[in-house]
Amino acid sequence: MKLQRVLQYAQHLLISSVTNGDTVIDATAGNGHDTLFLANLVGDQGQVFAFDVQQQAVEATTNRLTEANLGHRATVILDGHENISKYISTPVAAAIFNLGYLPGSDHAIITKPNTTIQAIESILALLKVEGIVVLVIYHGHEGGKTERDEVINYVSTLPQKYFHVLQYQFLNQKNDPPFVIAIEKVKEK
Ligand code: SAM
Repeated sequence: MKLQRVLQYAQHLLISSVTNGDTVIDATAGNGHDTLFLANLVGDQGQVFAFDVQQQAVEATTNRLTEANLGHRATVILDGHENISKYISTPVAAAIFNLGYLPGSDHAIITKPNTTIQAIESILALLKVEGIVVLVIYHGHEGGKTERDEVINYVSTLPQKYFHVLQYQFLNQKNDPPFVIAIEKVKEK
């Protein structure tokens, strides 16, 4: 397959925007796969801030980092990503969101449109020029389509002078497969 799969493409975007020493965000830590991926990219001088509202996710993410001996490269926070600005004030090179619920956990605990959009807004204010926010949109679950539509409406209004907004999606796959929205800051306001 020549076309990159959606999750591969999301990782490609993170690789292209993150370098040693950067501060980055995993807005939905879950089982910590993306936090670990980012911890490998930022090096010993960098820092990943990872957020989740579930204790189980914070523990899973912390354990995954510890097993990889990379605990010192991340701060795992038990709080909603809508509160990001309470914890971070330095410039951010990249952020990733995986919207939806934690696989293998309570399917009622899902990301929600208002808090997701609030978090995106906070991150865009901190984002460096050429920094990228990656949203992996899962929309097959209850509430997923509402969140998808509200997020698309919001990102579509971002001014082109300051942000490039892209959607990367396979159009002929069955069962509501996830897709990527990426936002690159091109100019400081
Ligand atoms: N990236 C994760 C991984 O590698 O396993 C999967 C993330 S999962 C699809 C979505 C996560 O978002 C869940 O763990 C859920 O608890 C979390 N979540 C829901 N609302 C949140 C919020 N307001 N702030 C931060 N995390 C939230």
